[in-house]
Amino acid sequence: MSTPESRLNAFPIFMKVEGRSVVIVGNGDEALSKARLMAQSNADLTIVAEIPDEELAAWAAANDATLLREPYHSDHLAGATLAFAATGGEALDARIVADARAAGICVNAVDRPDLCDFFTPALVNRAPVAIAIGTEGAGPVLAQMIRTRIDRMLSPSLGKLATLAASYRAAVETLLPKGAARRAYWNEFFSGAPARAMEIGHFDEAQAAADELLARRGAVEGHVALVGAGPGAEDLLTLRAHRLLMEADVIVHDALVPEAVIAMGRRDAERIGVGKRKGCHSKSQAEINELLVELGRAGKRVVRLKSGDPLVFGRAGEEMAALRDASISYEVVPGVTAAFAAAADFELPLTLRGVASSMVFTTGHDLKGGTLPDWAKLAIAGATVAVYMGRSIAAELATRLIEAGLSPDTAVAVVENASLASKRLFHGTLADLPALESREDLTGPVMTIIGDAVAGARFDRSTALAADIFVPVAA
Ligand code: SAH
Repeated sequence: MSTPESRLNAFPIFMKVEGRSVVIVGNGDEALSKARLMAQSNADLTIVAEIPDEELAAWAAANDATLLREPYHSDHLAGATLAFAATGGEALDARIVADARAAGICVNAVDRPDLCDFFTPALVNRAPVAIAIGTEGAGPVLAQMIRTRIDRMLSPSLGKLATLAASYRAAVETLLPKGAARRAYWNEFFSGAPARAMEIGHFDEAQAAADELLARRGAVEGHVALVGAGPGAEDLLTLRAHRLLMEADVIVHDALVPEAVIAMGRRDAERIGVGKRKGCHSKSQAEINELLVELGRAGKRVVRLKSGDPLVFGRAGEEMAALRDASISYEVVPGVTAAFAAAADFELPLTLRGVASSMVFTTGHDLKGGTLPDWAKLAIAGATVAVYMGRSIAAELATRLIEAGLSPDTAVAVVENASLASKRLFHGTLADLPALESREDLTGPVMTIIGDAVAGARFDRSTALAADIFVPVAA
């Protein structure tokens, strides 16, 4: 049973204001903030301010609000649906409240909860969808915090999607029996293909998907999102990645994606790890492709979570080809690639005016052949080179680049576990780079950045690659 403490003293409702009069009496920031809030609706707004602030007057002119430059009189409230007393003066506010009540108008007095008939919420507006957050005046900061969180969770296109949904209601009610079938339709409508098309601004496509869904009688279709998980820190995930994770039925992830990021997914989503880590069993790429196709065919919403950006050394090309061949719908969500995270940790400008104007993403593994790859020439011409998966070939990388003509003095930055609390930073020159290979204390992923632009990085938090050579203790 609920106790009085667990019940609300102010109950949220949605008030019809379209075309109706809302009157704000007052001036300054208080009046303006209520005006801004009400302007999120189609109410007819009147502001009564005898000598309005410049800002308030400009706002009223730009937002179609009627501004009455008159001293307040109770007649100003005539016919209003809602009224706000925001004069800042206690006696005047009290008079406005009394006048409003006498006329049967709901009234709010700014910063005077005792005088209020209603409170205004913190608002997440995705018209026609609205989320109103109230704390009964106890914590405006708390309300704003919650507002921000909810705002982040909801797609900016949710309003348009809801409007589209309204236009399908009649058809769905005619064609689909009440109960499970209808629920399945709307579930898929709001999280499947129509929602995805709307998200990228393709209204016609969303409509076509909604029609198709109706033709299929609401049967769900699988979808695979190849999602960049970023370099490791949870808050470097994109909002879109987060949203997809919360909607996923299945999350298929690599070993490099930390548990904390995977945990941001829907709690009851199935999780499948497919990456190798230090010799543990892992699936072959062909098996992963097959798995994604299988899950898609089974009508699952799949998030294929890859570290960094999915299109950078992520073998996404093969997965996309397999999905295309199987006619399974998919999308790609970019992520913060390791090179960018490492550069940020090092405060290292990847391009630097007059020094480096191009950038190479490489694994360095192509330096093994007889001929030098083109990117080596770019490096010599001053490009910044980001080396992925380069630890085990550090010595060969350095030797070949020096042979090719890159100065042994070229600056090198190395970051282990970029973006994570456990990150470690090292700096040195190309001549020092071979030391990396023998460092058995480096257990996390390592990003190596080479080039003159590296000299612009911040070195006071990194250790010298050469000076700190790790010597394993003899057994
Ligand atoms: N798609 C990923 C790269 C996958 S290849 C991306 O865009 O970042 C794996 C390599 O990425 C690792 O060997 C390492 O070189 C690099 N890497 C990934 N995460 C890293 C991190 N947090 N810190 C440093 N390097 C990282």
